[in-house]
Amino acid sequence: MMETSRMTPAALTPKSRERVLVIEDEEDIAELLKVNLEGQGYSVKVASTGEAGIKAVQAEKPGLVLLDLMLPGMDGLEICRKLRAEESKGRIPIVMITAKGSEEDVVRGLEAGADDYVTKPFSPKVVLARVQAVLRRADQQPKPKEDGSVEIHELKIHPGRHLAIVGGERLDLTPSEFNLLLFLAKRPGWVFTRTQIVDAIRGENYAVTERSIDVQVVGLRKKLGKFDHYVETVRGVGYRFSE
Ligand code: CA
Repeated sequence: MMETSRMTPAALTPKSRERVLVIEDEEDIAELLKVNLEGQGYSVKVASTGEAGIKAVQAEKPGLVLLDLMLPGMDGLEICRKLRAEESKGRIPIVMITAKGSEEDVVRGLEAGADDYVTKPFSPKVVLARVQAVLRRADQQPKPKEDGSVEIHELKIHPGRHLAIVGGERLDLTPSEFNLLLFLAKRPGWVFTRTQIVDAIRGENYAVTERSIDVQVVGLRKKLGKFDHYVETVRGVGYRFSE
């Protein structure tokens, strides 16, 4: 499950994080990404097939991979799975590039281990922002407090005491609402699919299904009141906690 690998600290060094590998078969797009990333000080290599991409990851040890899903030969999903299966030497952040309106691809990509995505056609600004955000999040892998509590925005969660406080008020949450909130709040900014959420919060004494996640979110938001915007819907994909 991706969840465990997401919590593995990324082996990023100041040097490696400056290297970006673009795996993209469309020359124009690859060039656009290269020029813009280089403009921000990244060193960029381009691979135009999946096979070449895998080799380049091993050779270049990039700090981040920008991965087109639609490639001839080995496609992006397969590359994602391959990279995730071989990450003994550290986890490389992956931002996938998908076609517009292909939420199913996004879901499959996230479940194959991608960290985030941009959809074509994209503006270089959006890609740069996404790359920076993913690198920042990779650097800030969870630093749970000693007692396991989580604090973000106006929210405090104490898992051991099963206590969630927002804006100074204690929330009266069901066990699955509590676990849902804790799971998302631990990784603000990360998008999770319903399947990933179900896998993460399934309890011993209660069942959670993908459909029921939507119901849980509605209930949770109601209880969050004016802080309901903390739990963001990513249309057609899943949910994330606001960064
Ligand atoms: Ca392509």
